Amino acid sequence: MSYSETSQVRRRLLGAATVWGLTAPWWAHSAPQGTFIERSLNRPVPGGVAVLDLGAGSRAPVVHFNGHRVLVIQDADQRWKAIVGLDLKTQPGSQSVSVQGQSTVTFQVGSKRYREQRITLKNKAHVNPDPQQQARFEREYEEQMQAYASFRTEGPSNVIFEKPVSGRLTSPFGLRRFFNGEERNPHSGLDFAAATGTAVKVPADGIVTIVADYFFNGKTVFVDHGQGLITMFCHLSAFDVRVGDSVRKGDIVARSGATGRATGPHLHWNVSLNHARVDPAIFIGAFQP
Ligand SMILES: [Zn+2]
Repeated sequence: MSYSETSQVRRRLLGAATVWGLTAPWWAHSAPQGTFIERSLNRPVPGGVAVLDLGAGSRAPVVHFNGHRVLVIQDADQRWKAIVGLDLKTQPGSQSVSVQGQSTVTFQVGSKRYREQRITLKNKAHVNPDPQQQARFEREYEEQMQAYASFRTEGPSNVIFEKPVSGRLTSPFGLRRFFNGEERNPHSGLDFAAATGTAVKVPADGIVTIVADYFFNGKTVFVDHGQGLITMFCHLSAFDVRVGDSVRKGDIVARSGATGRATGPHLHWNVSLNHARVDPAIFIGAFQP
C-alpha cells in the first residue's frame, strides 16, 4: 500500500469515527437500503422497530419475541419480514427472535437517549391516586394490557401510516415525565396539537376493541389492526364507534379532547407491536434519532 492510499484510508476511518461518535446512531450512517418498508420502519433502538428479513418461502414464518407473537408481512421483494416492536426497556446489544421450525434470528439494538419533561398537574389525584382510584386504575390497566396482547392472524392492511390528526407533533414518545416533581412512566405515545372536537382518523383497517372512559387516559379507543398491531387514542372528547365495529383506514373513530390526565386539549396516540409500545413517529416518517 502506498503512502497516499494509507492516508486516504486513515482519513476515511477518521471521518467515520467522528460521525459515529458525535451525531446519529450507527444505523443512520449506512446507505439507505432494502425495501421501502425496511427503509421506513427499521429503527432498532429501545422504543423503536426492527425489520428482520426471514427469506422467501411459501408460508409466513411464525415468530416470537419475548414470548409475544410478532407481525410478519410479505414485503415488495416477496420476502417475509418480521416487524418487531422494541419497548423502552429493551437492552441495547444483541437481541433475538425465535422462528418456528428454525433457529433464532439475532439482530442488534442501538441506544437512544430520551429527554425529560416536568409537568405540573392541578388535579393531585392524577399524581397520587387514593386507594379507590388506584384500584380503578389497576382494573383499567389490566383491560388495556389484554387489548394490547391480542393477536389476530388477519391483517394489517398497511404498516405505513398517515397522521391520525393534521396537528403538529408536540410531546414526543419516550419522554421521561415528572408530574409535580415525581417520576412516572415515560410517555408511551406521541401527542399532536388538536383543538377539542378534531376528527381522529384510524391509520389502517381494524376492529374496535375498547371504547371506555379511563382514570388517566380519559375517553379512550383501541383499534386492533391485526397481527398484534394495535393503535390507541386517548384524552378524547367523544366517540364515533362502538366495541366490535370494523373500521377502514381513514375512518373517523373519535374526536380529540382533554379528558383524563391531560393539561390541555391534544391527541395522544399509541402504537403497539407484539405488546411493545413503540414510537408512533416511525410509522408516519417523523422519527427523530
Ligand atoms: Zn401523550
